Amino acid sequence: MTRWRYAAATDTGLVRDANEDAWSVDRTLAIVADGMGGHAAGEVASSLAVEVITREFHEDETVDGLYAAVEAANQSVLADAVANPDHFGMGTTVIAIALTEDAAGIVSPTLVNVGDSRVYQLRDGALRQLSDDHSVAEEWVRMGRLTPEEAAVHPRRHQLTRVLGMDETVEIDMVSVVAQPGDRLLLCSDGLSNELTPEQLVQLASPPMPLEDAVDKLVAAAREAGGHDNITVVLVEFDDVVSTMTPVKKTISTAPAAVAPPRTTRRRSSWLTWRVALASLVLVGVAAGFVAIMHWYAYSTYYLADDSGYIAVYQGQPNGVLWFASRKVLDTSYPSAHLRPADQRLLAATISEPSLTSALNYAAYLNRAWHLSRTIPTTTTTTTPASSTTTTTRPVTTTTKAKG
Ligand code: MG
Repeated sequence: MTRWRYAAATDTGLVRDANEDAWSVDRTLAIVADGMGGHAAGEVASSLAVEVITREFHEDETVDGLYAAVEAANQSVLADAVANPDHFGMGTTVIAIALTEDAAGIVSPTLVNVGDSRVYQLRDGALRQLSDDHSVAEEWVRMGRLTPEEAAVHPRRHQLTRVLGMDETVEIDMVSVVAQPGDRLLLCSDGLSNELTPEQLVQLASPPMPLEDAVDKLVAAAREAGGHDNITVVLVEFDDVVSTMTPVKKTISTAPAAVAPPRTTRRRSSWLTWRVALASLVLVGVAAGFVAIMHWYAYSTYYLADDSGYIAVYQGQPNGVLWFASRKVLDTSYPSAHLRPADQRLLAATISEPSLTSALNYAAYLNRAWHLSRTIPTTTTTTTPASSTTTTTRPVTTTTKAKG
């Protein structure tokens, strides 16, 4: 029988106006989500994802049920964005550890991940990251294009390659976790992992530090280190744990399954008629395939360009492909004039990005870079951080700590 105890804490941090993180932890599911999007939409996305995953997983506490719960969350966030134009472009990461039951009735921990929130395993004073970050820089590390040290300071380290609620399909990492009694798993948003070193995480989160003290100290340390982002921590400790005999380690795409061709009624026909029909079918098939490939190519990418003085996101190729013209999918609030001169020239020539998420992130980065380039260094002033603003009002986070 696998059992754990847990504690959790969340904090807005010292820079952000609102807490767009959400979390939940109970007897069989620990989850953290880090939302993004303007007009408080990030808060909606993360809360909705945690709510849907928690509800759906408890209906079917298996690996398949966990996968279905994450897929349902993706669809729910998408549907909300369609129904509420203010929420367009919102999304959320999700990291969760669930105690799933396999066909033999063994209950064991399974990790599920989309985005750059993290799970660390703490054992014997050592720290190991169990999740892969789905960011441009970390993908480049896995491809060998960057070293981990280069990725840690790369401007695209915060640009996510996977996120819930942005697309009809999403790739989900699912991995069985092999744990021992006494192991701790630390789930967190990047507001914690970006502020603290691995050494600090080990020092503050490891036994014998009580779970409740550990989460408070982790949040306090992240605030002391700058608190540049929302900070959320869920810490679980296994009292008993078993491993499944059928472990999973896979990335699953929620791409819809191919539709089976409709049954055709067999008819008597002459040999000649049959051959003409077959040739026609082949011709239609080739033509349809060509159109489908052209359509896919035409809309497989996004780019940034100026539209009436503001940066806009377009889907498609800048010059169009055959009769498939590019289309504007989003206006940003970033004036094109608020870019560095070199970036303005790049924008005039259009800037290609592989996804809507990365296009939005890059637009924000360009705007931020302009603001930074205009900052004139002044004498340093010291401000006293505001008192802790631990959140207590989120739909799934009615308390800041829980203990089983
Ligand atoms: Mg964050």
